[in-house]
Amino acid sequence: MPDNYLLRTIDLTGSGQGSEPFDYRAAVPRAAFDVEHAVEKVRPICDTVASEGAAALVRFAEQFDKVTPKHLRVPAEVLAQCAEQLDPKLRAAFEESITRRRQVCELAEKETSSPSVTVAQGAMVTQRIIPVHRVGLYVPGGLAPLASSVIMNVVPAQVAGVSSIAVTSPPQAEFDGLPHPNILALCHILGVDEVYAVGGAQAIAMFAHGVPGLCERVDMVTGPGNIYVVAAKRLMRGTVGIDSEAGPTEIMILADETANPEHVAADLISQAEHDPMAGSVLVTDSAALADAVQRATATQAAATRHAERVHTALTGEQSGIVLVRDLQQGLLVCDAYAAEHLEVQTRDAEQWAARVRNAGAIFVGGWSPVSLGDYSAGSTHVLPTAGCACHSSGLSVRSFMKAVHVINYNQEALMELADSVETFALAENLPGHANAITVRRPKTSQDQDQE
Ligand code: NAD
Repeated sequence: MPDNYLLRTIDLTGSGQGSEPFDYRAAVPRAAFDVEHAVEKVRPICDTVASEGAAALVRFAEQFDKVTPKHLRVPAEVLAQCAEQLDPKLRAAFEESITRRRQVCELAEKETSSPSVTVAQGAMVTQRIIPVHRVGLYVPGGLAPLASSVIMNVVPAQVAGVSSIAVTSPPQAEFDGLPHPNILALCHILGVDEVYAVGGAQAIAMFAHGVPGLCERVDMVTGPGNIYVVAAKRLMRGTVGIDSEAGPTEIMILADETANPEHVAADLISQAEHDPMAGSVLVTDSAALADAVQRATATQAAATRHAERVHTALTGEQSGIVLVRDLQQGLLVCDAYAAEHLEVQTRDAEQWAARVRNAGAIFVGGWSPVSLGDYSAGSTHVLPTAGCACHSSGLSVRSFMKAVHVINYNQEALMELADSVETFALAENLPGHANAITVRRPKTSQDQDQE
């Protein structure tokens, strides 16, 4: 491999052909420092916030964000000022993104009906859909101020009908300890006035436990973040609801010889730019494409603004090029990896994309790059990482809704099932359950004589 090639190659062309099942999950590139390792790092942070409240938030800001925040809660007039001072071109881009995201939330994600099913005469089960009451939304701001995450969090929460919304983002030394002004401007534009200058694990703990005199506890925390934010979400789960584990970003690209290597390289770099821990993986059946992408990646990475962290991400064990013998095997790799973002840049891309089972979001063909989805496609950019896409979904209106079953049987309907329920309960050695039915049976004349 030439010296300037950044991505390691994993050659699977000869794997998975024997009678023994091949473990594709073990073969795909992943970082060794995972969420479980980070949980132990953030546990003391979360415990300290629970016991010391606001004082701990200030101390952690000084330690991790290198600033003493002037206000832990951002004053409303500052939010309004930031919106006023927003560059008109950027405001237009924000509004376009909001409109498209809201459209998809309203038309594709919102469940409006509460269906009732009459399972027998007088026996009804209704599924009521109720929004979560109060949520805390995390907007990253360590390496880059992700104003787009304000939109991705707030819009689905609003469409779901959440009544109390709080946003938090790390304090910035450059802005007097306030979150980035673009983040504050967007909060104002979207009508959110409860905004905190708190980042990292301490922000998740603030929302989960509440901080006296500052922030009331929330029912659910959502939003993307680095490995410490994700670890805190995992740790606090149960104390508070969470969305998926949306951590350090990943891109996997399934491509054949028809893909444009310059475009593939640019897309790999676009996600590597987020975090030295980001994963960028190409899966291809074309050695010629792999080579061309290596060359294009080396050239583009050297010239990009965040060359250092891009280099770290691309050369890390979480990134690489996986060579497969055909796209069928490529699909097995994609499903095993369960990428946060999966691009399909192949001949007949729609057909191949339709066969993918595990991915946070799928970008079809050469004209739907992940960057489009990061900002303005209308889709969510808060997506499960580290393989969680095999069981979790991205943040949507549904994430903010709870389904409550309402059970309403009349006396006749219960008596029709009485034998069945009593038998079931006794078989589980739970006679108290059976008795709760038996006491409701109409009294026989024998029962009345005994009384
Ligand atoms: P961030 O706001 O997530 O994290 C910054 C905070 O991390 C700091 O305020 C600090 O409190 C904490 N921190 C930093 N170093 C620490 C340490 N050693 N110990 C404990 N806490 C520490 O911002 P970021 O760092 O720029 O990360 C943003 C992340 O969000 C990136 O990894 C990006 O890939 C990811 N992201 C994911 C998605 C998704 O949906 N999966 C979407 C967008 C962004």
